[in-house]
Amino acid sequence: ILSRFNRTTADWQRLDAAHHLEPFTDYKELHAEGVRVVTRAEGVWIEDSEGQRILDGMAGLWCVNVGYGRRELVEAATAQMTQLPYYNTFFKSTHMPAVELARVLADITPEGLNHAFFNSSGSEANDTVCRMIWHYWDCMGKPWRKTIISRTNGYHGSTVAATNLGGMRMMHKQNRVWPEFQHIEQPYWYHLGHDMEPEAFALKAAGWLEEKILEVGPDNVAAFIAEPIQGAGGVIVPPPGYWAEIQRICHKYGVLLVADEVICGFGRTGNWFGSDTFGIAPDLMPMAKGMTSGYIPLSAVMVHDRVAEVLIDKGGEFFHGFTYSGHPVACAVALENIRILNDEGIVQQVGSDTGPYFEQSLKALADHPLVGEVRAVGLVGAVELVEDKARHLLFGDPGSSHKMGRVGFMCRDHAVKDCGLMVRAVRDAMIFSPPLVITRAEIDDMMSRFKQALDLTA
Ligand code: PLP
Repeated sequence: ILSRFNRTTADWQRLDAAHHLEPFTDYKELHAEGVRVVTRAEGVWIEDSEGQRILDGMAGLWCVNVGYGRRELVEAATAQMTQLPYYNTFFKSTHMPAVELARVLADITPEGLNHAFFNSSGSEANDTVCRMIWHYWDCMGKPWRKTIISRTNGYHGSTVAATNLGGMRMMHKQNRVWPEFQHIEQPYWYHLGHDMEPEAFALKAAGWLEEKILEVGPDNVAAFIAEPIQGAGGVIVPPPGYWAEIQRICHKYGVLLVADEVICGFGRTGNWFGSDTFGIAPDLMPMAKGMTSGYIPLSAVMVHDRVAEVLIDKGGEFFHGFTYSGHPVACAVALENIRILNDEGIVQQVGSDTGPYFEQSLKALADHPLVGEVRAVGLVGAVELVEDKARHLLFGDPGSSHKMGRVGFMCRDHAVKDCGLMVRAVRDAMIFSPPLVITRAEIDDMMSRFKQALDLTA
């Protein structure tokens, strides 16, 4: 559409450097290198302004679940824009797309999660979670229950509350962490527990939650929040038994459980939600990304009957909401996206076919000298690059010859620039989260490109 400007890549890069501040970016470094200008996409492929085609192993930012170029989503948006492009859901009004989407979400989420609060991003959803939880405990006559516990390297967004909720050290360094937010260590078996059986480590890691609850005082703890699989923290897959023990501890102390499904939701782990895959029965469930496959911003918090009934009966007005809560166009796109995921059997296919195939393909890399651990569930996975696999020595550990993240970033740069594959490096874990429509042949292609990147790095 913008080709009428007749600008070169260098022109766009110059204008970008002059006027655009991108998220999570070191601006000096970016301006020295020159930003990639992405122009179009189809299926699992993106293309840049220089005509390079890149296999998108990350589905954008873990979100383009049905792949690029789906006309049905464009048509759903166009039809809704034509009929009702906007109306708010405040002040005793609603509209059909929001009601219908709330109903459908109640259908596909685990039992009891029957009430939707809409927002536009995952970060907003998690701010809603915090405000709703605090309001809930006020209604329960326990306004002192304010502490929310989360995990190191958890990622819950970039708004102020979501940054506090998250466990990202570099983000905390640019902020003050509020005392209401407490963090426990992550269930990162390869780094923290490989001297134990995974099942024993699972109990130990879940036990850190109980220790924190006792330290804060059980009657001060409002909730525990975690991603079923920690995504942006490095695809940390919890060892077997972790989630069952976490839930036992939450029940024991009456602590609300929040499963952040922003990445795991909408088929990523081979079921509709990561909570289905790990047997989690949360009280609240924030979701975003795959809900619209990223075609338009939308998020929701699904709320269990047992929480919603208290808010409805005793809460009075909930003084919270956004102009775009339940935006009709976004809801119409979400409904069509969920229809595609369902009618084309995409979720089922990830669970029974492409997911296991991807896991097996990733595991075939385990013999590579740089590869320490391979983790995968459904179509999300990580290959952890290490200095010395025999000794479980990670880059950046005492005795390692490289800084943490250096080798991962090298591998990522080789993958993108030399091999035409978009992967992400979280420290030295190479992350995959491709569109859920990826075929076996495309998985083979993705793996051969990645193997080439690994060899260039080694
Ligand atoms: N929660 C999780 C688990 C995420 O991975 C993210 C984003 O990556 C967020 C929340 C924040 O979502 P958003 O970037 O839409 O604000």
